[in-house]
Amino acid sequence: SLRTVVVGAGQAGLQLALSLREAGETGPILLLGDEPSAPYQRPPLSKAFLADKVDAAGLLLRPPEALVAGGIEWRGGVRVEAIDRADARLETAGGERIAYDRLVLATGVRNRRLMLPGADLAGVLSVRTLADAVVLQQVLPAARDVVVIGGGFIGLEVAALVAAARGAGAAPVRVLEAAPRALARAASPAMSAEVTARLAAAGVVVEAGAAVAGLEGRDGRVAGVRLAAGDLVPADLVIVGIGAVPNTELAVGAGLVVDNGIAVDAELGTSDPAIAAIGDCASFPDARTGQRIRLESVQNAVDQARHLAARFAGRAGPYAAVPWFWSDQGPLKIQIAGLTAGADLVLPRIDAAGATMLCFAGGRFLGAETINRPGDHMAVRRLLAAGTELDPATAADPAFDLRAAAG
Ligand code: FAD
Repeated sequence: SLRTVVVGAGQAGLQLALSLREAGETGPILLLGDEPSAPYQRPPLSKAFLADKVDAAGLLLRPPEALVAGGIEWRGGVRVEAIDRADARLETAGGERIAYDRLVLATGVRNRRLMLPGADLAGVLSVRTLADAVVLQQVLPAARDVVVIGGGFIGLEVAALVAAARGAGAAPVRVLEAAPRALARAASPAMSAEVTARLAAAGVVVEAGAAVAGLEGRDGRVAGVRLAAGDLVPADLVIVGIGAVPNTELAVGAGLVVDNGIAVDAELGTSDPAIAAIGDCASFPDARTGQRIRLESVQNAVDQARHLAARFAGRAGPYAAVPWFWSDQGPLKIQIAGLTAGADLVLPRIDAAGATMLCFAGGRFLGAETINRPGDHMAVRRLLAAGTELDPATAADPAFDLRAAAG
């Protein structure tokens, strides 16, 4: 039987191991991760965990004993340093050599670092791992002036959470975003505007076009954020959320093709037939456009893992799952179905309770961005999964019934 080795014990790596066993795999499955914790969910790190509503044990995707019972060998604290493809072996930081028949790279991403003066002052934090979130959770209650650098999903989530904890009447939490709008990479301008307006009512002020020049400190601790425009924003806690970069060093070192992530084909294989890559670290051809994309979402990690497990079990075929995403920002439940960032036409359907942005490019339906409209989100996922086209002229009619159209 084949020995499957997975590097990266996160959402994608664990799912691959579970799905492979479910598919009847009898060979050994070894899951190697450099973090000390058993595989856990990251989304709550900037939501329920930070708000003290779930503890570390509650984040675990599976308790360690369930992995043992499922015939999955998980080893934490193991950093893989190199792939010896000629010998089909991994080399760990501890000097161990581990043989594989099939290798799956699920190494995820790491946070982009702020390359500015003062970025290493005490009180400048970011969140990617459980260890990061534990530190942030400890310092949050005592922080007075919290400033978030970066108006992406994670930055907005943390800002909304801090604002909610402080309650109405407190000074707003400031989010400094260098781009002309928040969520510029992932959402349409109409959605950015709607989210920003609703967050303002929840105590979060997004300052778009606010480029940061550096951080200033006192006695080694951060005291303020200096804007390129000159002003000093007081801060005793700065949370940096300026995006992430894929962990591709192993792949590069092994001579695999890398292109904004570990490049895989439609069946999630790399340029070496014995090596696949899934999740945040992998760039793959989008089934709808053929363009190479890389997604950072639970949906992508889980669906790619399931797809790869099915291929290992003999069911081949191109990966074509419908992308979707969620983000909870205070009172806003944001959901995106499909890839909407390149929209050239956005049809907004907005009322006090929520919003749905139907997104099109070149007359083709891309998907929808919603706020507090889970029914619309699910309807759009059904439309996309069925390949149903939506005519922009029909959809523009306020009487158009999206959920009925999805059947
Ligand atoms: P990860 O879960 O990051 O796992 C990769 C693992 O590989 C890591 O543990 C890493 O340390 C390890 N690793 C890397 N290199 C090596 C090596 N050489 N040797 C050993 N181990 C290695 N997604 C959503 O859809 N909705 C959300 O609301 C949402 N919120 C998020 C909030 C936060 C704060 C963060 C950080 C992420 C959030 N995400 C969200 C994204 C989601 O968590 C990721 O898309 C998902 O975890 C990707 O799974 P993965 O297995 O590809 O990577």
